[in-house]
Amino acid sequence: MPPLRDIPSVDRLLLALRPHVADAPHALLRDAARAEIESLRGEVQGGAALPENNLLDLLVERTMARLAREVAPSLRPVINASGVIIQTNLGRAPLSAAALAAMARVGAGYTNLEYDLEAGERGSRNVHLETLLRRLSGAEAALAVNNNAAAIYLALSALASGREVIVSRGQAVEIGGGFRIPDVLRQSGATLVEVGTTNRTYVCDYAGAITERTALLLRVHTSNFRLVGFVHETRLAELAELGRARGVPLLDDLGSGTLLPTAPYGLAAEPTVPESVAAGADLVTFSGDKLLGGPQAGLIVGRKELVDQLKRHPLARALRLDKTTIAGLEATLLSYLRGRATEEIPVWRMIAAPLGGLRARAEALAIRLSQAGADAAVTDCASAVGGGSLPGETLPSAGVALAPGPHSADELARRLRTGQPAVVARIAEGRVIFDLRTVLPEQDDALAGAILAV
Ligand SMILES: *Cc1c(COP(=O)(O)O)cnc(C)c1O
Repeated sequence: MPPLRDIPSVDRLLLALRPHVADAPHALLRDAARAEIESLRGEVQGGAALPENNLLDLLVERTMARLAREVAPSLRPVINASGVIIQTNLGRAPLSAAALAAMARVGAGYTNLEYDLEAGERGSRNVHLETLLRRLSGAEAALAVNNNAAAIYLALSALASGREVIVSRGQAVEIGGGFRIPDVLRQSGATLVEVGTTNRTYVCDYAGAITERTALLLRVHTSNFRLVGFVHETRLAELAELGRARGVPLLDDLGSGTLLPTAPYGLAAEPTVPESVAAGADLVTFSGDKLLGGPQAGLIVGRKELVDQLKRHPLARALRLDKTTIAGLEATLLSYLRGRATEEIPVWRMIAAPLGGLRARAEALAIRLSQAGADAAVTDCASAVGGGSLPGETLPSAGVALAPGPHSADELARRLRTGQPAVVARIAEGRVIFDLRTVLPEQDDALAGAILAV
């Protein structure tokens, strides 16, 4: 074991590094060199087995590796073989080719973001999406903000601050990531009035709670859980009727929200945005990157008078979208308008993917892995839509089950996650399962390569 005094100084290491990293910023290089010397000192003190000489070469190598890690992007692509189509941890909806092209086109230069080209004067960034959203939802007016949480926060702040909002006890929920409806209400300055019971809330419960302090009736999609059994929630149309009769607007937080019906794909019916508008909700909020399949955004559609109040609120400025997101959303919404959503938008392509095609891809992958000596077989599996929509609902899918060989399934899954490209898979009965439904077809080759590499 080399003595501590044999560890080179920072200056000596920097000198040795110079020929390898001529253009690295000095401070970055110096910090990396210091960190590696520090860590080597720890190893020597801990009695680690190290080469007697060549400590300098070892440090050069380690410092270069550290630098390479530090200048590499932290955010990088992942192959999602988990079978969950809309996975918040994996960035939710992959974007359509049209959305990506629009974002690149608009991001690369100047745009008419807030400039009326006809009049040659200042315009509004909202015009690019409002007509499309009105058309696709049937609502009078629309506004897009940073995400659905922001949409709800803006609506509550603008319409209910200092007043009361009535929510069913069964809908005072936590969506995930610590986003809790009661907390958002409090933060917006509104007071939560819970009505009904956890499992049953009737329209008369809402009616009995309305006072002159009531600002809104709020309906919340319960997203990631489902109550079954002795359950009753008030229908949206009943709530809308009550609101109209008593002069209290109804805000419907649809969560995922969808412009297309889910029933044709063998799934339960997720409430659609046009249905909420038609049922009489005064404002409807939903996410841009869940079932809509676009970039992160929060969409608000509804009555013009209310949307106008939201547009004028100071928070609207703080929560506004940037030009690339607007471009991506516009392109995504145009796919719906042209009736091309299930062909063009990845989330819908995945939902609509026929089982036969998935099985053929799974077979091709299993054969490729088996030929390389792996114990891989085609397996039936079940994908989930995710994104807080359709809890408990699954789509029959096809995948490949891989026996972990000398490692445990956990260890193999870890190697896949940390590989290049990263792969996120599922573990079932001691095997690693790759669900082909959530793997983009153009990633099949890369997936096979990543598996073979580990
Ligand atoms: C996902 C979700 C939200 C939050 O939407 P973000 O776009 O993630 O901010 C709010 N409400 C419901 C019911 C949801 O499902």
